[in-house]
Amino acid sequence: MKIIMLGAPGAGKGTQAKMIADKYSLPHVSTGDIFRANLKEGTELGKKAKEYMDKGALVPDELTVEILLDRVAKDDCKNGYVLDGFPRTIPQAEVLDSELKKLGDAVDLAIDVEVPDENIVRRMSGRRACLKCGATYHVEYIPPKKEGICDDCGEPLVQRDDDKEETVKKRLSVYHEQTQPLIDYYTKKGILKTVDGTKDMKDVFADITAVIDAV
Ligand code: ADP
Ligand code: ADP
Ligand code: ZN
Repeated sequence: MKIIMLGAPGAGKGTQAKMIADKYSLPHVSTGDIFRANLKEGTELGKKAKEYMDKGALVPDELTVEILLDRVAKDDCKNGYVLDGFPRTIPQAEVLDSELKKLGDAVDLAIDVEVPDENIVRRMSGRRACLKCGATYHVEYIPPKKEGICDDCGEPLVQRDDDKEETVKKRLSVYHEQTQPLIDYYTKKGILKTVDGTKDMKDVFADITAVIDAV
């Protein structure tokens, strides 16, 4: 199954995508994680992406699409995947569709995790991430067992550079302008499902599994 996670930055896409990946044994493909891994390793791609990420802007479609298509061409994606943070623009969605079509394939489901803007800044300012395994926590809502340390791998948790309030506001406006139109795009294709992302993490996941199991 090929699933796309939609929603504002901080809506909980990554958190839910990980849980979906575990339950349904699908790879979790996050373009943001790929860019951050490259940033950490100091690759050319990482350097290019950083210019945009730091400003809260989107990395250009051309670059992003290439990375994503490379990733989903890997063997582990043969039976499907959960895309988290891609597509973020209509052109990205169109390329994905046309590439899948060539293979006689298509996206099965787009899940919109809906959270109002008012809740987002609070979520983002409390977000802490493990750069080693990609796990995400929240200081207040989803704290790690030991403060500042990843439950899974014991690495120190960090606050992302782009989770500062000003950058978050910029990312939200970019979301409304460039990414929200995808909700219409997938509605027209008849594959969009919306879940209430303000609920507790486990309740959001229960709603999501109900949607997936109905496909
Ligand atoms: P969040 O999980 O908060 O929505 P991500 O980790 O998905 O953030 O993305 C972080 C940043 O990486 C984005 O602000 C953007 O600069 C870049 N990025 C990630 N995915 C894409 C994409 N599909 N298209 C363009 N830029 C992207
Ligand atoms: P996204 O990938 O959409 O940017 P994340 O999954 O990283 O969002 O979640 C953003 C922040 O909100 C993280 O700190 C995460 O731990 C927290 N979070 C995720 N889901 C919930 C929820 N249902 N209720 C409260 N906080 C949540
Ligand atoms: Zn970790």
